[in-house]
Amino acid sequence: MTDLTRLTLTEARDGLKAKQFTATELAKAYIAAVEAARGLNAYVLETPEHALKQAAASDEKLAKGEARPLEGLPLGIKDLFATEGVRTTACSKILGNFVPAYESTVTAQLWRDGAVMLGKLNNDEFAMGSSNETSAFGAVVNPWRRHGSDAKLVPGGSSGGSAAAVAADICLAATATDTGGSIRQPAAFTGTVGIKPTYGRCSRWGTVAFASSLDQAGPIGKTVRDCAAMLRSMAGHDPKDTTSVDRAVPDYEAAIGRSIKGMKIGIPKEYRIEGLNAEIDALWQKGIDWLRAAGAEIVEISLPHTKYALPAYYIVAPAEASSNLARYDGVRYGLRAPGKDIVEMYEKTRAEGFGAEVKRRIMIGTYVLSSGYYDAYYLRAQKVRTLIKRDFESVYAQGIDAVLTPATPSSAFGIGEKGSADPVEMYLNDVFTVTVNMAGLPGIAVPAGLDAQGLPLGLQLIGRPFDEETLFSLGHAIEDAAGRFTVRERWWA
Ligand code: GLN
Repeated sequence: MTDLTRLTLTEARDGLKAKQFTATELAKAYIAAVEAARGLNAYVLETPEHALKQAAASDEKLAKGEARPLEGLPLGIKDLFATEGVRTTACSKILGNFVPAYESTVTAQLWRDGAVMLGKLNNDEFAMGSSNETSAFGAVVNPWRRHGSDAKLVPGGSSGGSAAAVAADICLAATATDTGGSIRQPAAFTGTVGIKPTYGRCSRWGTVAFASSLDQAGPIGKTVRDCAAMLRSMAGHDPKDTTSVDRAVPDYEAAIGRSIKGMKIGIPKEYRIEGLNAEIDALWQKGIDWLRAAGAEIVEISLPHTKYALPAYYIVAPAEASSNLARYDGVRYGLRAPGKDIVEMYEKTRAEGFGAEVKRRIMIGTYVLSSGYYDAYYLRAQKVRTLIKRDFESVYAQGIDAVLTPATPSSAFGIGEKGSADPVEMYLNDVFTVTVNMAGLPGIAVPAGLDAQGLPLGLQLIGRPFDEETLFSLGHAIEDAAGRFTVRERWWA
């Protein structure tokens, strides 16, 4: 039999329906691949028994001709999604061995549609980071390496485990979350596709909260089509999340291959930042040429408040995080460090349980929300956020269908290479992605080429609210022109 782990999600779906292999065979192939790839540290918990049980149920459904949309397809789940009866930690020591008594809405919908869970995937602690190095479980290793080098590179973050697992073929696709770039940046660093849907498209219920007004779940997959199939199951209205929107979920896969002729693509001049890496600039130009060749019209646009997005994000996100993380006090979940009284117990638990980056965010957030500073920082950042949103609204009002930008300012960097002396060096990874969260818009990262070191680079497309379909059509046009980028040698196995 051919190596089942080389298949894409939608190829595996079609293969199961055509009875070329069974869901149990597929699950077993993945379980073996996961075990062989432990050196990448992508999974923080493997759940093979769970996978085999679900696969057996899928085989029954398939035999009866009752296959659901994701029947028998093995997935990895970011450890930010609560999974009933399965340890969920957000990769923080403070959650200890927390086992939720409930399932997140997004994962519940994946199981409703027949998917199979291989395990929980590594991420930056509470999704704060761009390299997966803040995880209490340690760094994830990117399956990609530079030409002629065995230096270990980061897979990006915070969904580093998700992106590495998809790129290493140790799941067919993965769930991820994106608050400032955590789906798109790791996708770009690993040659995979990632989409952050419009704010409100996926329910946040049962997903560990970082910054509630920015957080969105989305998939990371091997192809644009795979992401479309995943998002259809993940998205939808949920009465348990009042910010989730009651709007029908389209058949996203139908958008794949749709003509992009006549679409207007905006190229924002503010993204041509000073000192932009020449290879990334060249790739952006290639993306423009590909879309033009496919019939799109290219329009230079201006998003004048872009330069304030990153500083404003690093006020809004920590402010919300400081409030959300107040609940980890040693009483309700996970870790408890005893103290002589309740205050000392709180203090010791939080001092021991949170890592350095999370503490930094809580301190920044508490500071910008404190009286005397609230107006100067938090309120101002909220106003900037409105202006960023208006920038996009005005270009969309001019008839722009989507905006094309680079996904990241660099390719994957080495483990330990960035951010230890100056955290801002790490924060700069998100310059191209945070605007999208601040404006609540959908954004997709699609691999578009390799740099001179042989590492993948991605392009980002930003869409109108709830127009993920256009992103899938355009993303597929880029994929069609650029081809797929897969790791040639499985050096870790
Ligand atoms: N890297 C950004 C941060 O550290 C975004 C993380 C995310 O999207 N979860 O806040």
